[in-house]
Amino acid sequence: MPKKIKHKTDQERSPRVQLQQLQQELVGCQLCPRLVDYRQRIAKQKRRAFRDWEYWGKPVPSFGQWNARLLILGLAPAAHGANRTGRMFTGDRSGDFLYDSLHRYGFCNQASSRDQTDGLRLSDTFISAALHCAPPANKPTPEELEICRSYLWRELQLLGRLRVIIPLGHIAWKTYLRTRQELNWPVPRPLPKFEHGAIYELDGRTTLIASYHPSQQNTQTGRLTKEMFDQVFEAARQQIKAPLKRARKNN
Ligand code: SF4
Repeated sequence: MPKKIKHKTDQERSPRVQLQQLQQELVGCQLCPRLVDYRQRIAKQKRRAFRDWEYWGKPVPSFGQWNARLLILGLAPAAHGANRTGRMFTGDRSGDFLYDSLHRYGFCNQASSRDQTDGLRLSDTFISAALHCAPPANKPTPEELEICRSYLWRELQLLGRLRVIIPLGHIAWKTYLRTRQELNWPVPRPLPKFEHGAIYELDGRTTLIASYHPSQQNTQTGRLTKEMFDQVFEAARQQIKAPLKRARKNN
């Protein structure tokens, strides 16, 4: 008699497998017509310096470990950065700035991020974004942010060991808080204010740290210096080391 194949339900699959499946689904996403058009157009037009590249031109999946304690939330892939290389914060100056600090504080194995074959490995860290497709002029619409938030909504439920969340920039900050509200997870009232370096405890287990985005607009004008950015990751490291005040209810 043939053996019955039992298909696992979502609940029976491990968070690691569910996260992998979520990223596979995300890479095929076409829910935002304006962004689908833009990311593909950029991938065809290319920048002169990258004319020999085959651009990724698809939604950029999140990157990192399912059991990470640190979550970094970016804004969106850069048109000629992650939209070209297919990996978060890879192939542009923002990524150089980010991975340099992550490396200094032991959250990844090297300070540079060139392409998907460069050997970069994150440690105890997961990187996602408010939006997974490059938007024109780096400006997503509220509707696009709302649609893409459904991926973060699902990721947060699978990332069961998170202790520290670092949204990079005001849009990522609002996206994270909004997603928590949609999940009915505790959110302080009034809502925490976005101010670089501000630290908020959310539920006795999760700490939210505000940081400016390491965009060239911020780093080249001195609005965000290396020291200011390093302080954020130093604080993250300390929070991760600190004893838990209470276990998370939702996991
Ligand atoms: S931005 Fe997000 S929801 Fe919109 S097409 Fe890209 S992956 Fe899909």
